[in-house]
Amino acid sequence: MKFNKLGALCKLGGERNQDMSDDRLENKNLWAPWRIKYIQGLSESADCFICHNLKNPQDDDKNLVLWRTDRSIVVLNRFPYNNGHLLIAPARHIPGLSESTSEELLEMIKLVRESQKALSLAIKPHGFNVGMNFGRCAGAGLPEHFHIHVVPRWDGDTNFMSVCSDTDIISQSLTELLELLKQVSRENNLPAL
Ligand SMILES: [Zn+2]
Repeated sequence: MKFNKLGALCKLGGERNQDMSDDRLENKNLWAPWRIKYIQGLSESADCFICHNLKNPQDDDKNLVLWRTDRSIVVLNRFPYNNGHLLIAPARHIPGLSESTSEELLEMIKLVRESQKALSLAIKPHGFNVGMNFGRCAGAGLPEHFHIHVVPRWDGDTNFMSVCSDTDIISQSLTELLELLKQVSRENNLPAL
């Protein structure tokens, strides 16, 4: 059931999981109304924001890039499902695991580990959802360039997020959170690959 909840979590904002007949589960979906800007943007542009970020290191802060490694990039999701939602992507524009090398896959899993370390030090989550979506029907907003979601969770966060749903607050907190994660990374030599 945990995995089904993640599927619901990564569906585009506002949609309800029609497969969920259990009301108790449905009520626990994270509510992220600011994602409407992201959903509207999807139809307006076919650009790959991950490749855009990769090609513009001078804009790393603006683009919320946390780490660059030999084969991967780690960014804060601008349209997060929860505070600290990170995306880990290969540096190559590839759609899935079949196109990845073993080295890329190993590095990305290590980056999941390092992301959890950094987030734990910075914002002390009680748990995490970690997952991947393949294909738009599965909720992938950028199906051409696959990425791993790392979503921190806190007890009771499904109630908390509906209160703090203002886009400006989210945007400001993203910049501050990026700084905090970078500081924690410097102090703890993260990511250690
Ligand atoms: Zn790309």
